[in-house]
Amino acid sequence: MADQPLLVFDRSVPGRIGLKLPESDVPTTDPADVLPAHLIRKIPAELPEVSEPEVVRHYINLSVKNHHVDRNLYPLGSCTMKYNPKVNDTMAALPGFSQLHPLQSESACQGALALMYELEEELKKITGMSRFTLQPAAGSQGELVGVLLMRAYHDRQGSQRRFIIIPDSAHGTNPASVVMAGYETLKVATDPRGRVDLDDLRSKLSDEVAGMMLTQPNTLGLFEDEILMITDLIHGVDGIMYMDGANLNALMGLIRPVDMGFDITHINLHKTFSTPHGGGGPGAGPIGVVDRLIDYLPLPLVDRKSDGTYYWRYDIADSIGRVHAFYGNFGMLVRAYTYIKSLGEEGIRSLSRRAVINANYLKSQLVDIFELPYGDGTMHEFVLSGEHQKKRGVKTLDIAKTLLDYGFHAPTIYFPLVVSEALMIEPTESETKATLDHFIQVLHEINALVDQNPDARLLAPRKTPVRRLDETKANRQLNVRWREENLPH
Ligand SMILES: *Cc1c(COP(=O)(O)O)cnc(C)c1O
Repeated sequence: MADQPLLVFDRSVPGRIGLKLPESDVPTTDPADVLPAHLIRKIPAELPEVSEPEVVRHYINLSVKNHHVDRNLYPLGSCTMKYNPKVNDTMAALPGFSQLHPLQSESACQGALALMYELEEELKKITGMSRFTLQPAAGSQGELVGVLLMRAYHDRQGSQRRFIIIPDSAHGTNPASVVMAGYETLKVATDPRGRVDLDDLRSKLSDEVAGMMLTQPNTLGLFEDEILMITDLIHGVDGIMYMDGANLNALMGLIRPVDMGFDITHINLHKTFSTPHGGGGPGAGPIGVVDRLIDYLPLPLVDRKSDGTYYWRYDIADSIGRVHAFYGNFGMLVRAYTYIKSLGEEGIRSLSRRAVINANYLKSQLVDIFELPYGDGTMHEFVLSGEHQKKRGVKTLDIAKTLLDYGFHAPTIYFPLVVSEALMIEPTESETKATLDHFIQVLHEINALVDQNPDARLLAPRKTPVRRLDETKANRQLNVRWREENLPH
């Protein structure tokens, strides 16, 4: 690796080109005639001069420098890094979808409208919700939209509310969405079983509570088994129950959010329905609602006329307005639709069962070396604690970095906050037993290393293109631009 130039700029040779175009027979225009002066370049753009094979090799080499789900297990808890079937991409690339313009007339994009309509029908079946908006671009935006719907609902009732209740194990986006929508968070404690503490919840209830946001199964991977009691309590103060649906992968075909008393749920299509994610690419976080919230949904919705044609519906009485340019990230919708249709109802149920079995198998093979503070009722993921290892001198961060040298992505670490030295592991249904067994064996090896050679692991990772990074600095001062002076020496 070291002998290969790292970046395409380093391969640049003046005059080298990848493509030879015929002499142009279009009369040349002086840029000054068509562009304002401040938009015209004074110096030519600094572009690499390379041939096609060099560009191809550059990107292929880059693609294997990072870990991704097509390389090996990616057990990043809460993120559902399952395999993304390639047929999803083939469908999204069909010219009838990929070449559409968002301003095309309804009659010229009936296929796309039909796909959105049918995707909504599928999501309704899976969740029991009455209507969906497909616009939100991520789970987190779905949350924000959901809380705005709660606000619209309470405003309509003429009721002033201040708080949204969230558990202390909640994903960071939950309190962020609450605050962005103008509410305050009210934290509810986790009980010794890793579930919402009902007594604490009762003590927080009042007519100032707008609703509750709850992840089901929760961020410890446990099913909130008192859910009917919780939703009753919230409805008792006319609050709205919001399900953070990021963990829907554990539930499909087994239980529906609506049957547990939820009024709103988002779905991370890029998690549960296998559309690619990571790296800040486009996602999709549709939200579904029960009947009494339909009138507040973002507009437009897709509907079908009696003659079978599809159209954009804009007459939504108390809509909160648009939440995304045009209609959302359409390519993600095509991928999710393809995934649902290729699995079918029985396939979807079976995937959730397998996700739960894989997590429980993995857990059963790791509890002899790791502490498991909340382990009763694991669904699709579980949270270990690295306290045993920390006492012997190795932190969870070191274990995570060592896993990289074995060709695995690390689990989510230090989240949720209610577990110290947390390792949150989600294998997903798309892994074979052989892969899980390999992962188990490697974690046992790393655990043995802790005692044999306590210093070795501090050097990890040693086999990755870059070694241990200052992650705090990378977060605060992100620098992803190529600059000669930034090259490693
Ligand atoms: C991923 C996740 C979110 C946020 O979803 P994005 O699509 O990444 O915005 C919210 N809650 C939980 C529990 C999650 O795992």
